[in-house]
Amino acid sequence: MNYTSTRDTGVSLEAAQAVKQGLSRDGGLLTPVEFPKLSQNDLNAMLPMSYQQRATFVMGLYLPDYSAKELLGFAEKAYGPARFDTSAVAPVKTLDAATHCLELWHGPTSAFKDLALQMLPQLLSAALKKTGETRTACILAATSGDTGKAAMEGFADVEQTKILVFYPKDGVSAVQEAQMLTQRGGNVNVCSVVGNFDDAQSGVKRIFSDEALRDELDKRSYFLSSANSINWGRILPQVVYYISAYCDLVRDEKLKLGDKVNFCVPTGNFGDILAGYYARKMGLPVGKLICASNKNDVLTEFLTTGTYDRNRTFYSTMSPSMDILISSNLERLIFDLTGGDGAQVKKYMDALAMSGSYRVDDGVFGKIKELFWAGSCGEEATAAAIARHYKEYDYLIDTHTAVAADVLEQYRAATKDETPAVFVSTASPFKFCDSVLKAIGQTPAGEGIELIDQLQYATGRPAPWRLAALREKERRFDLCRKKEEMPEVVRTFLD
Ligand SMILES: *Cc1c(COP(=O)(O)O)cnc(C)c1O
Repeated sequence: MNYTSTRDTGVSLEAAQAVKQGLSRDGGLLTPVEFPKLSQNDLNAMLPMSYQQRATFVMGLYLPDYSAKELLGFAEKAYGPARFDTSAVAPVKTLDAATHCLELWHGPTSAFKDLALQMLPQLLSAALKKTGETRTACILAATSGDTGKAAMEGFADVEQTKILVFYPKDGVSAVQEAQMLTQRGGNVNVCSVVGNFDDAQSGVKRIFSDEALRDELDKRSYFLSSANSINWGRILPQVVYYISAYCDLVRDEKLKLGDKVNFCVPTGNFGDILAGYYARKMGLPVGKLICASNKNDVLTEFLTTGTYDRNRTFYSTMSPSMDILISSNLERLIFDLTGGDGAQVKKYMDALAMSGSYRVDDGVFGKIKELFWAGSCGEEATAAAIARHYKEYDYLIDTHTAVAADVLEQYRAATKDETPAVFVSTASPFKFCDSVLKAIGQTPAGEGIELIDQLQYATGRPAPWRLAALREKERRFDLCRKKEEMPEVVRTFLD
């Protein structure tokens, strides 16, 4: 199995090299040249398996240069009881006969990013050995809140790596900030940036394309790599939970093997829903993929009109991990839907960089309409969805999950499609206490991590223990810089 660039199909890399490198040199995303197929027999064989075994099975199809024994070891460590608070790892909760919720927040940082970021450091570490790399990997990540913490937790004290995270000063929740500033590990650092997420992300992209800085780091025996979802090592572990959710539903007799199911995914960078698309491409019986956006509805517009246009107002919402105007992983979808036409993708991406917009041709747009449905959910509707689920199902969901729940209802009202559906729950409500308290009719008394207790008392539900323990933890970092100063932060960190 080889990997190629979405912008130049002349590129051909082995899996370990693709994971190590993160991004293709031409700026494209590294993507498998073929997608293995899952037969009904394969799915049947996976029914009795643990999550760890399912992960080993699925990931092994894409990583021939990693042995099954090696992958099982990674999966047991990544998803074991020391890190996940349920042996199911990614449990499916049933709300009614046709509606299920896939809970992806049982890991150490209480967001779905853990499913990938507990695995990626192990894939990368092994890739360093497999490729004979002697330099240290310096992982840079821009975060809208959840990636940064999950990446630091995954890479903390991993040999031959250092990790530096940038986040927008006023763009993350109080709990998310406290999680990052109290991170353990001798090889981690975090810096807030004056500005919004796109400022932090474009700062990181500039560092990656700064040849002089790269040369300087190379002389000091470092190379840069990425923990953002442009890395294939992040997308692949996410393919697993779509397949696993389907297997659970069949195992628990809520579906018959072969029945279709729709997935509704709260989307920002298009990584999560892309993994669902790949699962479908492998043969998982998926009907529609429903893309849920918050008030930043650039993807809703794209998937319903075929035109991507980032020239619009950026809104800070109560679902900050979806406050994104440039969805990097869309590039992989378009590559696939053009039949692997790297030159065409490059044209679209050049147009995006130059003018902020592009329009896909009718062939691609036709396929998009067949596969996807898209909707967006404003702030009031987000709060209403939290309140409704709490009242009707006694089920507490976070702001991102609420966007998906609302858009699923929009989809059903618009299409009358009665196919069973799973909406994806991407974070614990205890990461967004302020918004969740208000949504269920409580007045937040206090601020920041103090509200964790209030939400526990108000709902009678326990917070994930690591969040409840934040109060006692010492804050280790307090760096804040302008985006122009980001390269200097990297230099100082590596001194
Ligand atoms: C990152 C994130 C998302 C968006 O996922 P993408 O892969 O960027 O589309 C949604 N919800 C939460 C809680 C997140 O952390």
